[in-house]
Amino acid sequence: MASNVTMDTIVSLCKRRGFVFPSSEIYGGFGSTYDYGPLGVELLRNVRNLWWRAMVQERDDVVGLEASILGPSAVWEASGHVSNFTDPLVDCKNCRMRWREDHLLEGNYEAEYGATKRDAAGKLLCPNCSGELTDPRKFNMMFKTFVGVVEDTASVAYLRPETAQGMFYNFSNVLSSMRRKLPFGIAQVGKSFRNEITPGNFVFRTREFEQMEMEFFVKPGSDDEWHSYWIEERFQWYLKYGIKKENLRIRPHTKDELSFYSKATSDVEYEFPWGWGELEGIANRTNYDLTQHAKHSGKDLSYFDEETKEHIVPYVIEPAAGATRTALTFLIDAYAEEPDKDETRIVLRLHPAIAPIKIAVLPLSKKEPLVNLSKEVAKKLRRKWVVQYDESQSIGKRYRRQDEIGTPYCITVDFQSLEDNAVTIRDRDTMEQIRVPIAELSSMMDEKLSLD
Ligand code: ATP
Repeated sequence: MASNVTMDTIVSLCKRRGFVFPSSEIYGGFGSTYDYGPLGVELLRNVRNLWWRAMVQERDDVVGLEASILGPSAVWEASGHVSNFTDPLVDCKNCRMRWREDHLLEGNYEAEYGATKRDAAGKLLCPNCSGELTDPRKFNMMFKTFVGVVEDTASVAYLRPETAQGMFYNFSNVLSSMRRKLPFGIAQVGKSFRNEITPGNFVFRTREFEQMEMEFFVKPGSDDEWHSYWIEERFQWYLKYGIKKENLRIRPHTKDELSFYSKATSDVEYEFPWGWGELEGIANRTNYDLTQHAKHSGKDLSYFDEETKEHIVPYVIEPAAGATRTALTFLIDAYAEEPDKDETRIVLRLHPAIAPIKIAVLPLSKKEPLVNLSKEVAKKLRRKWVVQYDESQSIGKRYRRQDEIGTPYCITVDFQSLEDNAVTIRDRDTMEQIRVPIAELSSMMDEKLSLD
């Protein structure tokens, strides 16, 4: 069952506590773009880093890459995006609102916009005003720009709509520089841009967003097995970092849903407050991309198989996730409100590895010796973790503030600390407190904040 937090609650928490701000807000905002505030950047970095750790650093069969965002049209013609990266678009003849036709089809209309509106003949009507809709038109979602001073067709460039193509056009570079053998993968984290017709649900769907993608090159014939392997691997990753199992599912695409290049795709989906939505797609892209780039560039992108002494074009399994969408999901899933004495405690039960601030150091009073000792403790801990020092307002209020941003541990320095060189550690989830010698803090935190 979906967590019963509303998006309004999440959006307001994000603004209030410095996770996510509407972009260019003092100028009235800029349609569906967002800025990550001081806590948001830490959260997003944790998501990226944990993905990178699992996908690259802990494996010996995947390497990393950072390709450029701006690319020539040749890349996107080869990949099929210039002709195929389109959404069917319908306009309302009455209120002029624009919709993605696939969002209005069977099952999707209700999930996205509430009860389906139709005219007497059964034709779909505008979700906003019940007006008549136009026939669908194709709309290319890539952002086009021009490089250089002359805006002619020769200087057309695109902002990448996915990070994947960088891995394909660098296939030979990686293969030869890293002396790789199949199977192996190339991973990348970075920004992508899509001119979405209906961005929305906060940072779930935006025009500028961040992806975490990996292209895993395999021998043809072993692709089905590797596809199943990566679906399971990726599903487990979300569970490992605390997403509740009942809110997560794997959904294989039906034949008519498949992208033009895909042999099979399964999505990892999360039950968002508005219904099930994609977190990540794991696709079997076959040898489509390498074949296309070889054809368009005239370069040989095959792989020489030492065993069979044959040149082959590898198949590709692609787990493609959204970093910004995943960060939002962690926030939604972790949000809880619970009764605490006469009040309500808001707490983000984030996995410690995901939490933006790991430790808060709180002196019980603003008296100089306590402040000095607290700052000393905080300084030492900062060498390893993101630490917040907070001395303002009552200790109860400070605990609440840390709970609300998901800080797993608060360390309180009190007057007794000056004598026994010990402090109190408070656990966010159980609210239990234990007394620990300052000398043992670092090793204890190592244990408590371990990534696994
Ligand atoms: P959707 O069906 O939601 O438009 P998609 O199937 O087009 O997504 P992919 O091309 O498979 O998405 O991209 C991989 C991942 O990138 C998605 O699972 C999602 O997490 C993320 N993503 C895609 N588009 C956006 C967007 N506009 N805003 C934020 N994240 C996105």
